[in-house]
Amino acid sequence: MHEFALIQSVLEMVKDSAVQNRIKKVNRVKLVVGKLSMALPDSLHFAFDAIKATDDLFKNANLEIEEREIMVNCQQCQQAFPMEDRYCFVCPSCNSTGIEIIQGRELYLDYYEGDEN
Ligand SMILES: [Zn+2]
Repeated sequence: MHEFALIQSVLEMVKDSAVQNRIKKVNRVKLVVGKLSMALPDSLHFAFDAIKATDDLFKNANLEIEEREIMVNCQQCQQAFPMEDRYCFVCPSCNSTGIEIIQGRELYLDYYEGDEN
């Protein structure tokens, strides 16, 4: 279950930063998750809830997830378009197969919010 390991490392990162900034309570953690990152939002929420229960710093924290659609760019006609559910690597306007993925692989901590007391 790689979502669990992922949330664990995100929360460790937040924790390090919270300690440095004298934050005692984290209220919100926001992640950006591309649809190609293979991390499922439901599993991320599940892991987050399981881990936050074991740490006072995160006891009242909410996880917010921003999902990013998969966007591709045609190298032939330079058009960008969203990739639908089917993994079709053909340009809809010129039928070229020279397609590159420009969005959808990202997975990162956007920001977190907390209180100093
Ligand atoms: Zn094209």
